[in-house]
Amino acid sequence: MRILDTAALILGFTEQGQEELVTCGDVLEEARYGGAALRRVGGIKVIEPSERYVEAVRKKAKEVGESELSETDIHVIALALQLSERYPETSIATSDYSVQNLASILGLKVEPLLHRGITKKIRWATYCPSCGWMGGGKAPGEPCPRCGSRLKRRPRG
Ligand SMILES: [Zn+2]
Repeated sequence: MRILDTAALILGFTEQGQEELVTCGDVLEEARYGGAALRRVGGIKVIEPSERYVEAVRKKAKEVGESELSETDIHVIALALQLSERYPETSIATSDYSVQNLASILGLKVEPLLHRGITKKIRWATYCPSCGWMGGGKAPGEPCPRCGSRLKRRPRG
């Protein structure tokens, strides 16, 4: 099992190897705005991590001071944690240093994208999925200043 984060999906990490490709709904939603990624979504299994694992990852992130992780990042790591119990070879393909760091602390296998010759960097914009608010100074997961929904992020075009 290879878990793809948003960058992995957008940058086209989906062609390599025989591993089964997995991601979660949050990643798909972020990648939707990446355009190119949509064509590749076909063979990818979408699984949501159980709340138990999400909580475990959130707790660990707090414990080790990884405050840069978005909700999506947390979900990706939680999914890896969950699947690795059944499939020990599960790995996370990601370009995000905070994800790599926390995953390693949790004993998960990581495939850093940058080490595979992919150097394109993704820049993120924060937006509200409910009312469409967009702007700076807010982080994903914080409440929308206009309507209070939880903010998300998407690749900046
Ligand atoms: Zn809003």
